[in-house]
Amino acid sequence: MLKRVKGIDRSLMEMVNQAARDSLPNEFMAMLRAEEGVVSELLLVPGTLQGNDSVLVMLHMLPIDYTVVGTIHSHPGYSNRPSRQDLELFRRYGMIHIITCLPYDEHSWQAYDHQGLSIELPVVDL
Ligand SMILES: [Zn+2]
Repeated sequence: MLKRVKGIDRSLMEMVNQAARDSLPNEFMAMLRAEEGVVSELLLVPGTLQGNDSVLVMLHMLPIDYTVVGTIHSHPGYSNRPSRQDLELFRRYGMIHIITCLPYDEHSWQAYDHQGLSIELPVVDL
């Protein structure tokens, strides 16, 4: 599945960073959908906006959807390193996971694989 994903849409990433700002002091979390190899759409998961690092709690609400390639969430601090809970989420659901952190700009996010290892995810203009 990872092989199919070759980039993320620039405007989608900007949208996520804006949503992350709006969600402060909480996290923003969504599922990533890819079309023709580019992550270009979010699938919002209800109930994940409150709480600090609460992404795992809502795992049971995640939809079964084969266009979903992974997850994206924000950290309300300056670290985009995955927490232990994040790593558990990464292992269980999807192949590509993005964490963005303050100040929520084009340099503040990082993509990870299902093992939590940093991966390159090029930004593309659709
Ligand atoms: Zn996290």
